[in-house]
Amino acid sequence: MTDKPDIHRIIRSQLTAKALFDQAGAYAFEYMDTLHDRPVYPSPETLENLSVFDEPLPDAMGDPEKFLALLHEYGSPATVAQTGNRYFGFVNGGVTPAAVAAKWLADVWDQNAGLFVMSPIAARLEAVCERWLVDLFELPETTRAGFVSGTSTATLCGLAAARNFLLARAGWDVHQKGLSKTPELKVVLGEEAHSTVFKALSLLGFGLDNLIRVKTDNQGRMKASDLPNLDTATLVIAQAGNVNTGAFDHFHEICGKAQKARAWVHIDGAFGLWARGSENTKHLTGGIEKADSWSVDAHKTLNAPYDCGIVLCRDESALVSALQNTGAYIQYGQNRDNMLYTPEMSRRARSVELWATLKCFGRKGIESLIDGLCGNARLFAQELEKQEFDILNDIHFNQVLVSCGDDSLTQAVLAEIQSGGVCWCGGSVWKGRAVIRISVCSWATTAQDVHMSVKSFVDARTRILSKQTKKEIK
Ligand SMILES: *Cc1c(COP(=O)(O)O)cnc(C)c1O
Repeated sequence: MTDKPDIHRIIRSQLTAKALFDQAGAYAFEYMDTLHDRPVYPSPETLENLSVFDEPLPDAMGDPEKFLALLHEYGSPATVAQTGNRYFGFVNGGVTPAAVAAKWLADVWDQNAGLFVMSPIAARLEAVCERWLVDLFELPETTRAGFVSGTSTATLCGLAAARNFLLARAGWDVHQKGLSKTPELKVVLGEEAHSTVFKALSLLGFGLDNLIRVKTDNQGRMKASDLPNLDTATLVIAQAGNVNTGAFDHFHEICGKAQKARAWVHIDGAFGLWARGSENTKHLTGGIEKADSWSVDAHKTLNAPYDCGIVLCRDESALVSALQNTGAYIQYGQNRDNMLYTPEMSRRARSVELWATLKCFGRKGIESLIDGLCGNARLFAQELEKQEFDILNDIHFNQVLVSCGDDSLTQAVLAEIQSGGVCWCGGSVWKGRAVIRISVCSWATTAQDVHMSVKSFVDARTRILSKQTKKEIK
């Protein structure tokens, strides 16, 4: 006899008692309630404490009450307070209680969203979200959506559909014949395209040396007048929301030219496509409806929980045939089989929290959310300018690029802001200059938070300048 644990009895008793869920709930509530009293970024000590997790895989079964406690004691403080009010790093986002609660319930369901027969509810909610998004973004009625982990994957899917469609049009079945000796496709994109676009192109076998990179203007928008000749074997990739400036390409002109030439247009709209959801920013997206595929994140501007990206494609068969690799013989059932629209088969039912987020906000709420993010970005820029920081971009949407004049000062001030704990911003480089990048992405941020954050910028600069003066005197 070995001393194997009776896993059925042990796990069953955990499930019956449910104490673990109460314990996790209590920790979660404590986390929510203390989020505002802690530094936005974890302190160096909390990061060092993470070494408690470095242990060999245990032999014996664990006591989950103990490890939940460990997770809360050492894990919670080592999180980035992204769901708080003053996290402005990268282009991230917040979450709504409605979505988190729905996700908790769905976690208990533990559905595999791959096929209708595996999860009717996941299939139905994907179908509903698809209609809602096509409606909100005012895309062609034929547009189909695939629900993936984020825009990196969504872009990969959209570009795979484009590649296969354009090659098929040129008489080349890439499923069967692969990539050697393919007819040449022209790939056109702005030199400010997001790094994940280049990654997707590289994964799909387009050599990075073969891309036609169109010059951009001072806001990072593709110069539509510089587009090369487009034809039926061209893929154009445009951008709704530059990751630095927040600027939008001129879609009417770009998509108009592409449509005439019957080229394929994909739009990377990771955070910017949502501009479509407010009367005040909708004009930025004029013309996107003429594109062929789009990628967008719900976990950014919409404040859905991670991981929630969406690929949208006007031509269902182009998307499905590229992702299923089964040529032209796709079987569509009466009900939606989600895996037809994504590269994976098994995956979790992320449409539950997307549905909850969309239903919680409604059109009016989405508009209010977007207007709030843009308004706070403008307020940031105004207040920082008053304090004699340089703002290097026009405020198109939710992004603000800040400089302290010279690059080394900007970088020192950024590091001081980051360790100060009042707010957290990331750094970037814009047109060769170091910048502090503010991305207002959470519903939770208020004007008061902007004022507090601006004060932390001013204080950080004062501390750095006084340190420098002291050094000079020495
Ligand atoms: C964030 C972002 C991406 C990548 O999206 P993920 O969800 O992180 O995979 C692509 N393009 C732009 C413009 C982005 O802002």
